[in-house]
Amino acid sequence: MVSCNPFLLPGHWFKGALHVHTTCSDGRLSPADVVALYRSRGYHFVVITDHNRRTDVSGLSAPDFLVIPGVELGWGCNELGQPYHFVLAGLRGELSWPVELSIERVVAHLRGLAPLVLLAHPYWSGMTVAEMAALEGVAGLEVYNTSAETDLGKGLSSVHWDDLLARGKRWWGYAVDDSHGINDDLDGGWVWVKAGSLSEESVLSALAAGAFYSSSGPEIHDFRLEGEVATVRCSPVQRINFLGQAQWGFQRRAGQGDGLSCAEYRLCGRELYLRVECIDAHGRTAWTNPLFLS
Ligand SMILES: [Zn+2]
Ligand SMILES: [Zn+2]
Repeated sequence: MVSCNPFLLPGHWFKGALHVHTTCSDGRLSPADVVALYRSRGYHFVVITDHNRRTDVSGLSAPDFLVIPGVELGWGCNELGQPYHFVLAGLRGELSWPVELSIERVVAHLRGLAPLVLLAHPYWSGMTVAEMAALEGVAGLEVYNTSAETDLGKGLSSVHWDDLLARGKRWWGYAVDDSHGINDDLDGGWVWVKAGSLSEESVLSALAAGAFYSSSGPEIHDFRLEGEVATVRCSPVQRINFLGQAQWGFQRRAGQGDGLSCAEYRLCGRELYLRVECIDAHGRTAWTNPLFLS
């Protein structure tokens, strides 16, 4: 897949929640209440992803708010004996899944059900890099999952992401809530997508192409590479990390009492990819997707 920098693309920014449960599985809020709550928080779209079932979202969308049908499927067994959890967005037709297939064939089947398939909460699930690297057809992983964080502090999977990127896996990083309406798991992780319009097709194709950034707080206003110099501009934060594989990268820190809203990094030429994290005084973070350099 070609790197698709949203800051260089035409279109509009839309804020979305990609992983949301309702009373149709183990959430505390009805689909209508979930939609009303995210709308009131300034979101433009949600993907309803109840466990192992398709929740009816008909009648929930409005001209200025999109509700996308989805599902979270638990499948198989990883090295630690836990099921793989996949989030599917843009679910088409009836939900079905084959039995007794390898995990690779299951993912191929899931891709036939929806155009966007993500690996949910790798840290929480105890996924190894080898298990994740074997998955083909998955667009990326949840770099941040609010529910896994507020539940037991295992919401952040940025090391898993870097491990995969360092091995040439071109996955995007999605921040999500996985909201159930408990433990402050709502409006803690989201994506800003650059899309041509607020239609399901436009939003999902932008999400699949990496035309978005993720956040649990800060805003990113620009991120680009010109020649050998990468520049990021963001809302005021305390630290900005430029990250490549292994030890390649750089951290810029704000002076005492100051906020940092711009930083540059000159490539050393060894980076296979470059991504950025902008971290505020409360630890809230915004994550760009990687620019692939090889
Ligand atoms: Zn899950
Ligand atoms: Zn979930």
